[in-house]
Amino acid sequence: MNVKNPEKTCKRVTIVGLGRSGIGAARLLADQGLQVTVTDCRKAEDIKNELDLLPDGISFVAGGHPASVFEGVDMVVVSPGVPLHIDPLKICRTKGIAVIGELELAYRSTDLPFMAITGTNGKSTVTSLAGEMLNASGISAFVGGNIGNSLCEGLTEIKQEEKHGSQSTKWIVAEVSSFQLETTELFSPRLAAVLNISPDHLDRYSSMDEYISAKTNIFKQQNKHDYLVLNADDPAVVSLAGLAPGEVVWFSSNSKVEAEGKKGVFLRDDELCFHLDSRQGKIIHQESIRIKGSHNLENAMAAACLALLAGVAPGVVAGVLRDFPGLEHRVEFVGSLGGVTYINDSKATNIGATEKSLQSFSEPVILIAGGFDKKTDFSLLLPEVSKRVKTLILIGETAEKLAAVLGSASPVIFADDMDDAVQKADLAAVKGDIVLLSPACASFDMFADFEDRGRKFKEAVRRLPQKKKMFIKAREVAI
Ligand code: ADP
Repeated sequence: MNVKNPEKTCKRVTIVGLGRSGIGAARLLADQGLQVTVTDCRKAEDIKNELDLLPDGISFVAGGHPASVFEGVDMVVVSPGVPLHIDPLKICRTKGIAVIGELELAYRSTDLPFMAITGTNGKSTVTSLAGEMLNASGISAFVGGNIGNSLCEGLTEIKQEEKHGSQSTKWIVAEVSSFQLETTELFSPRLAAVLNISPDHLDRYSSMDEYISAKTNIFKQQNKHDYLVLNADDPAVVSLAGLAPGEVVWFSSNSKVEAEGKKGVFLRDDELCFHLDSRQGKIIHQESIRIKGSHNLENAMAAACLALLAGVAPGVVAGVLRDFPGLEHRVEFVGSLGGVTYINDSKATNIGATEKSLQSFSEPVILIAGGFDKKTDFSLLLPEVSKRVKTLILIGETAEKLAAVLGSASPVIFADDMDDAVQKADLAAVKGDIVLLSPACASFDMFADFEDRGRKFKEAVRRLPQKKKMFIKAREVAI
């Protein structure tokens, strides 16, 4: 059976979960003429906005997943948030019906090559950078996935363009999460990258091994002509190299990779250099890269490596690294008030991200942290908190837990909400300090998502000057 082009082998498909990816999958399949049913455990009145986005002709079942919606289907597409062990999905699998995610559906629906990026942190930054590098060099790329826009939605448009003879996309650049990788089968990107691995989502996975195993699905189906880009400085990532069917290419913040005769992108005398097949040379001096911090240097090297492998010229890679300002909510400069600098790192939803963001500052830090509990071990933050944090302002579900673990390393102040946290931070801060929102936790206990949390932080910071009758100073260049 030809597994590519599901429209040729399937008639009826059920989609479980009406989120962004479910809507995208529904549109793509309906556009190909398939009979589509969507089911969601929420009540219809709670998802009116999502329902409005479904194209005509799609059946919808709200309030659960009754067995009837799976009868006679050829394929089931599940959204990343849906638990895979629920009975109806188990039954489908025992009947031999493919139960896949939106990423796998996108992969099966096109012959365009995929560039896929995973890792605990840095995915969105590297995905955006790599997409910009391709587009800047005239190699048109669609950028999507976990970064926020549905891959299937993008493919619906690409297929429309194909029909009209105006299709120009050459690559699909996909940010992929471990949740999405749980529901792949044949997914085989031409270029894959694993950026780093540190504890995360241990509320979903029973162990780190289980989390890492999901991540390995990004490269398991590759063949020897494909490339896997790995972080040579992260031991958990290095240990994956032996499992790779494709060719491993490295990125590293030192020149060990080069000394060992391995291929990749690395730092030599503060210059980003590359050595790939017969090509080698310099890309850019690290000081000229606009996004700052050791983590962003890693991101720059990973993106450069992927782009060079896809045929982008080193000069174009350098140009993008010089100009790319960074993404909102990632160590984002908000303003400076009375000599105190405010930084929004709301996207730091795990310990590894907060650790890296603390390492980006030499100034004393007032850290606003806490949120939804993902059952990770906060004591991993102790070294950085002892070194750099002057005061800890704690919010959310994990506030007490964080205080118990980190209270020996820094004075603790509890806050009721973001406004309260920013005001307490302002009182604790003196000229030269950094007030950093970098929660090390997800946001769902108090906010709609990390963007909502970041926006509330920025609004609270922007209200401070009115209270203090001062002006906030904005800088153009993001930290
Ligand atoms: P992701 O998409 O994996 O969540 P982002 O690029 O959105 O990654 O960044 C998320 C958070 O992780 C931000 O707080 C950012 O400062 C931090 N971060 C970015 N890149 C890295 C990296 N390479 N290592 C560790 N932390 C990082």
